Amino acid sequence: MDTGSAFDLAVVGLGPAGRAVASRAAARGLSVLALDPRPEAVWSPTYGIWGDELNELPESVVRARVAGPELRARRRHTLHRDYLVLDNLALQQALPLDAVEVRRARLEDADLVDLLGSRPGQARVVVDARGARPEGHLPDDPAPAQTAYGIVVPAEDAAPALDGAAGLLMDWRTDWADEGDRRGTPTFLYAIPLGQGRVLLEETCLAAAPAMTIPELKRRLRRRLVSRGIRPAVVDAPLEREIVRIPMRGRGHGPAEGILAVGTAGRGGNLVTGYSVAHSLRHADELARAIGTGLRGEGRLPSEIDPTGPGDLLREMGLRALLRLDVDGTLELFEAFGRLPVQAQRDFMSRDSTAPAMASAMWGVFRRMPPRAKRALVAATLGPSRGRLSRSSARIPLEG
Ligand SMILES: Cc1cc2nc3c(=O)[nH]c(=O)nc-3n(C[C@H](O)[C@H](O)[C@H](O)COP(=O)(O)OP(=O)(O)OC[C@H]3O[C@@H](n4cnc5c(N)ncnc54)[C@H](O)[C@@H]3O)c2cc1C
Repeated sequence: MDTGSAFDLAVVGLGPAGRAVASRAAARGLSVLALDPRPEAVWSPTYGIWGDELNELPESVVRARVAGPELRARRRHTLHRDYLVLDNLALQQALPLDAVEVRRARLEDADLVDLLGSRPGQARVVVDARGARPEGHLPDDPAPAQTAYGIVVPAEDAAPALDGAAGLLMDWRTDWADEGDRRGTPTFLYAIPLGQGRVLLEETCLAAAPAMTIPELKRRLRRRLVSRGIRPAVVDAPLEREIVRIPMRGRGHGPAEGILAVGTAGRGGNLVTGYSVAHSLRHADELARAIGTGLRGEGRLPSEIDPTGPGDLLREMGLRALLRLDVDGTLELFEAFGRLPVQAQRDFMSRDSTAPAMASAMWGVFRRMPPRAKRALVAATLGPSRGRLSRSSARIPLEG
């Protein structure tokens, strides 16, 4: 390919989304420059994906496999899919950067625009993969966010929390609350074995605007775990801690003119679950191929990644409901979700499901809810926000 001395592609940010695109593009013969302030760092979050989302990735990237994790709402539901915890180092090794020119750098928006071009040192395509908040998280960010506080403890100590389940994807029972007082924003327990005798126990607020604070999540987790019989000393001195902050709408605005945004820098996150990793990994090669084809003049270069489609409008409705439902409404919603057929559960949770599949899954949830909960869901989807109103939560845009 005749590129002069410009790179074919520059990828800014080497999280899962950026690394996957950089690696796949280099494997397809493109000259690739990748920039990140810590390019050698092993990703620290505990990433989970479903077994059927592994696609062509090798089994070595799986740190732990949980067969049939459970969902608890009013009742106990087994989700008939394997849930995988990824081994981040192995995943990074499965996305090699040997053929990529990697540089240590932190780039601002304007730097990405300067990088775009056909002069030496520039790149003909620039992909922004700097994540949702390249400038860091703002303490008073009004945007809807998922937050969680988690601890890693020995499996034998975690057993009372799991209550016989292989893993708990979402346990919506309300033992986080003071006796008889279940007001406030709903949260759930995520309890997943990590392998090597360790379990992650994480109190999660699926979505709130502004985000639920970490001290509140920590308080709820402690109350919940101690009430299930876990010793306070185990809760207070865990092997590790994890803090999760996921802006549900990603960055909330598009990239600069001419720049492509991938992963949570763009629209790669699922508005309902906050997850993005499976989607980014799945589409990286397709994106690399499209860029290669476009650069060779054999097709059009992509002008946008993850363009808004009707499925996103439905997921936005789902996010609106999650932001507004109270504890009982949320319990009924997930009780109905737990009773869906497995394909509909997959469609509800996947960033890749089509609008008809998403609509059908949402309808399946709705029609399984009792009448009072249905009314609450309609009111939540159309009505005012729960809790403090913020500009962005009061006026939920249907686009980014
Ligand atoms: C603790 C935690 C757990 C999560 N668990 C899951 C999960 O189980 N499953 C799931 O699908 N999602 C999960 N998420 C949500 C989401 O998928 C992740 O945030 C994921 O890391 C997003 O990948 P990304 O590549 O888009 O962005 P990031 O992972 O945020 O990567 C961005 C990269 O850009 C670099 N960068 C930042 N600023 C600059 C700059 N100015 N210049 C150059 N480089 C820059 C960073 O160093 C980083 O390497 C989790 C998030 C957190 C925080």
